[in-house]
Amino acid sequence: MGKYDNVAHYQDFNELLSILKKSNNNYEMRKINKAYELAEKAHGDQKRISGIPFVLHPTSVACIVAQFGMDSDSIIAALLHDVVEDTDYTLDFIRKEFGKDVANIVDGVTKISKIKLYSREEQQAENVRKMLIAMSNDIRVIIVKLADRLHNMRTIECMAEQKRRDKSRENMEVFAPIAHRLGMKAVKEELEDLSLRYLDPIGYNEIEEALMLRENERERFIERKKKEILRASKLPNSKITVYGRVKSINSIYRKTYLRGKTIDQIYDFFALRIIVDNVQDCYNLLGVIHDLYKPIPNRFKDYISTPKPNMYQSLHTTVIDSDGIPFEVQIRTWEMHNTAENGIAAHWKYKLGFTRIVNNKKARELDENINRIKDILQAQIDTDDSTDIIRNIRNDFDQNEVYVFSPKGDVFNLPSGSTVIDLAYLIHTEVGNHMVGAKVDKRIVPIDYKLNTGEICEILTQKDSHPRRDWLEICKTSSARSKIRQWFKKEKREENIIEGKIMIERELKRSNISLSDEELEKLLQFMLKKNKFNTVQDLYASVGYGGIQLWKVMPRIKEEYNELFKKDDEETVTTPIIAPQRRRHANSGVIVEGMDDCAIKFSQCCNPLPGDEIIGYITRGFGVSIHKRNCTNIPVDISKAEEPERYVSVRWENEITDSFRASLEIISNDRTGLLADVTIALSSMRIFIHALNSRQIENGRAMVTATIDINNREHLDMVIKRLQSIRDVISIRRY
Ligand code: MN
Repeated sequence: MGKYDNVAHYQDFNELLSILKKSNNNYEMRKINKAYELAEKAHGDQKRISGIPFVLHPTSVACIVAQFGMDSDSIIAALLHDVVEDTDYTLDFIRKEFGKDVANIVDGVTKISKIKLYSREEQQAENVRKMLIAMSNDIRVIIVKLADRLHNMRTIECMAEQKRRDKSRENMEVFAPIAHRLGMKAVKEELEDLSLRYLDPIGYNEIEEALMLRENERERFIERKKKEILRASKLPNSKITVYGRVKSINSIYRKTYLRGKTIDQIYDFFALRIIVDNVQDCYNLLGVIHDLYKPIPNRFKDYISTPKPNMYQSLHTTVIDSDGIPFEVQIRTWEMHNTAENGIAAHWKYKLGFTRIVNNKKARELDENINRIKDILQAQIDTDDSTDIIRNIRNDFDQNEVYVFSPKGDVFNLPSGSTVIDLAYLIHTEVGNHMVGAKVDKRIVPIDYKLNTGEICEILTQKDSHPRRDWLEICKTSSARSKIRQWFKKEKREENIIEGKIMIERELKRSNISLSDEELEKLLQFMLKKNKFNTVQDLYASVGYGGIQLWKVMPRIKEEYNELFKKDDEETVTTPIIAPQRRRHANSGVIVEGMDDCAIKFSQCCNPLPGDEIIGYITRGFGVSIHKRNCTNIPVDISKAEEPERYVSVRWENEITDSFRASLEIISNDRTGLLADVTIALSSMRIFIHALNSRQIENGRAMVTATIDINNREHLDMVIKRLQSIRDVISIRRY
């Protein structure tokens, strides 16, 4: 049986009543009954998609909220959470009948429900902010919302596939991280597991089956350890609870699929939890465990003396038993256990005096915790800047990782101290490789800017931009560092070889010289030794990179051509004047008002980046140089400048482009000129080439790989069709 097959999908009002009764707390039963009556009346004979009466959804959500240990207002709000959205009753009516707190929670939950978190539209960032505002003024809003989310996931089976996947993604990227920040581990894990089931059903089932296969083995192991520990602890059985902890499927998934481990390689696959009455016993038990089994070095963590930022407390250790089997042990008190499972929700429970274990000191601490959170929230309510609100909440809860949003609302998780470079490479290697700068909360930041949780970060890219060596020192994550190194080693060289060769061929063509690859190589041999190059490829790379400036060497190449290839009856090739050319200046990303396609040069003095306010200066002979408007070399008042007519207004090109990158693999019979034909075909379609390679494969065939910019699917089809018409091409596929 699967891990979640036992979870009750629908719970009615009677079940809510029995949960409330069991808790021995003084709930406002009259008000709760009244709320149920209203919900029943309001939803009438509304049905859920599955055909089940709608009112069973709010009662189920109320049960979940009650099980978190929340107060009467939260339970009432849970019962009424869909009333305003789905029926004729107004928020004012609810406020009048149930008070402003209930109305406020219902309003918040309703607002969050209206947000389409992953609609892939411009509204994304704004939407996420709205949601965060909603959660900020009363943390109970987000707790009821999480319960609503959880119940919807438990009953999502009958929804359409796409909807299930969308909801699952939202859970993974928005709601589960929020539950984590609030310390609500049980909700976090269930949301993640239920979502994983729809995002990767095969992976989910594999793990679930593997767990089931090992279930007997696991139970026997746990039973044995339990006996050994109970015997050694010398505590009466009523004072100690030992049980096997089942890991969340998502956490196993992450360790196996994403980190390439097998289930048997996961340390804490066998995991025990020990719950005792007081802190003293926690440390005693730790001693007992370390006597019984061999502790693995560096795996002991004392989260009791140093709680996690989300208030989590426990002792963790990993040990090896006499059979050499490693297992993890967590030791905690009941109170810590409740906090660990329910996080911030547990604090309402303590505050309301629900629990039997609270002592005065602890109660004070918990009060302080709640007040601290409230203070943060309160201080921010008036500012209307939700980014700050969530940043503060989150900074308060976790210091080891940061969460940042893309402008579209995608969430990225990085180790703290990460810079915008790390984020760029996390988003995509190509984003990193073409980054020119970044905006955080709409403001341009330096490249070494360290990201903070809650910030909205946009990476600015330019097609012809590339990584700089000093990034290696700036970035924090090793993955970014290795990608940058990779680029320097490989990508640049290949691009430059292609670029350099094309540039030489283009210049030769201007003199009506067209050579086969072999002839070209022969022609250029004379340059190798002089420049200490081993191969012609090195020469191409240098030309492509700009190390060798073509306009300086072309005359000499022409002379060489005349010597080597010219037949006596032909006219000697003369050397046309070649202007130094800026590569792809059309892609500089700057538009000069009133001038089409003029040469653009970014000034060295102020290094303007996209998003900066900029101004152009018409130079003598080098086109327009672009400065920041506030550059010290630009007069504050242009009209008083020496030659005011030289200043032109310029603006950044719209950064949004619809093009995306596609890599094609072209299989062909190997022949000379193949690569050139592909290049010509692509450039005749005005397609930007990022990389182009060719190598021989078996049976006299060649494989050409091309990475190009494509506007859309039709465009791609057209390109493929055009390439297919090249002589000797056998097949083309996108990879
Ligand atoms: Mn609902």
